[in-house]
Amino acid sequence: MLLTLTTTATDRGPATDLGYLLGKNPSRVQSFELPSGKAHVFYPEATAERCTAALLLDLDPLDLVRSARKRGASQGLLTHYVNDRPYVASSFLSVAISRVLRSALSGSCRERPALAEAELPLEVTVAALPARGGEGFVRALFEPLGYEVEVATEPLDPTFAEWGESRYVTLTLRANTRLSALLTHLYVLVPVLDDDKHYWVGREEIDKLLEKGGEWLKGHPEREAITRRYLKRQRGLTREALSRLTEGEDEDPEKEHAEARMEGPIKLSTQRMAAVVAAVLEGGAKRVADVGCGEGRLLRALLKEPSIEKVLGMDVSVRALERAAQRLRLNEMHERKRARVELMQGSMTYRDRRLQGYDAICAIEVVEHLEPSRLEAFARAIFETAAPPLVVVTTPNVEHNVRFESLPAGRLRHHDHRFEWTRAEFRAWAAELAERFGYEVRHLPVGTDDPEVGPPTQMAVFERKEGPR
Ligand code: SAH
Repeated sequence: MLLTLTTTATDRGPATDLGYLLGKNPSRVQSFELPSGKAHVFYPEATAERCTAALLLDLDPLDLVRSARKRGASQGLLTHYVNDRPYVASSFLSVAISRVLRSALSGSCRERPALAEAELPLEVTVAALPARGGEGFVRALFEPLGYEVEVATEPLDPTFAEWGESRYVTLTLRANTRLSALLTHLYVLVPVLDDDKHYWVGREEIDKLLEKGGEWLKGHPEREAITRRYLKRQRGLTREALSRLTEGEDEDPEKEHAEARMEGPIKLSTQRMAAVVAAVLEGGAKRVADVGCGEGRLLRALLKEPSIEKVLGMDVSVRALERAAQRLRLNEMHERKRARVELMQGSMTYRDRRLQGYDAICAIEVVEHLEPSRLEAFARAIFETAAPPLVVVTTPNVEHNVRFESLPAGRLRHHDHRFEWTRAEFRAWAAELAERFGYEVRHLPVGTDDPEVGPPTQMAVFERKEGPR
């Protein structure tokens, strides 16, 4: 697996400045230990006019098998021994870039800081790059990012032309760009082309993707394909990543407030907060966690109550939390009040010890944002692991939708809702949870309780049966 990076002299200095940018001296070969092999950096060419650095990965096939087996890989053993992994550019290359060229990737350069910011004439070649999706897809990935793209395909076997092309290509990219931008693009897109990450993909991968891809990925025409493949086609993760990636787009006030507008003059959200605060106070809760807190409407209402000592807002979306911090004016808040609020990123579908020790947990208009298959994880995280004395859940009552004139028949209230429940469905779900986890449950209407279709919002208040645990 080989990557070469070439630059030429500019009026900023000689081509050999590449050595400073990479933090690797052009006059020596340097080797680095990686989890499954070695990386070597050397310079086949280093003159003032033109300088080329090479990153060669020497992966140990047996090490790869060992680590695959340690991870409990279930594929046949033979595929561990006989595969292309040691020879092709894949997610190992990303690992090597992040380990061996860490400062260059992050855009810092101790000795020549200005150089890291500069656009330089760069050319990179990645040999033996598996390209699922073919040349067209390779171009669709790199051309929108401003590269001149050259793709050389290789015959599967040079002596048997009729066997056709192999799926490996040699990719060359040229651009006047910052080195860190180029490395970041490779870091994300090489594994996307390979479409076969060597390690298990979990939620941290979303953070990595958004950290590396955040800005350019947002506007990339292939952002969905990139995200899907980067996250190994895991639908839940992909959807979460895309929704975090596109969150800013929801700032379009048209879209954001469509739900509120539709809910009409009753100002349902205000009534909802009032109903929840009442349930919390009635239950005697002093420490309250709001999961899926969004922009912090409930937090704000709770902070107005002197008997509430502590409020925690948790949301999966960092953007939502930033907006919550702004709307609550956390920065300007008086120290005493500030000490009562905490915001944190997290998912209410994960058993999270940070949710323990609260008197009440509220999940307001948020369960309908979960995939139905994640409801069980939510139930266990909240009712079994956190298990507070009081849980308040609200969700739309789908029967009421016919009363919203602007809502086309059969449509859900918000584009991100995965489902909306009838009153009977919500009651059945709540009753089963209460039974299983030892709670009593009451149902309360929020908004006008229409005699025929019920209230727009339904609320369940769960109280744990036994005393403190
Ligand atoms: N409770 C707020 C926001 C409701 S919108 C209110 O009533 O105003 C739903 C919120 O749930 C969004 O902010 C979304 O980011 C968040 N969310 C979705 N899935 C989540 C999960 N698994 N864990 C925590 N928050 C989640």
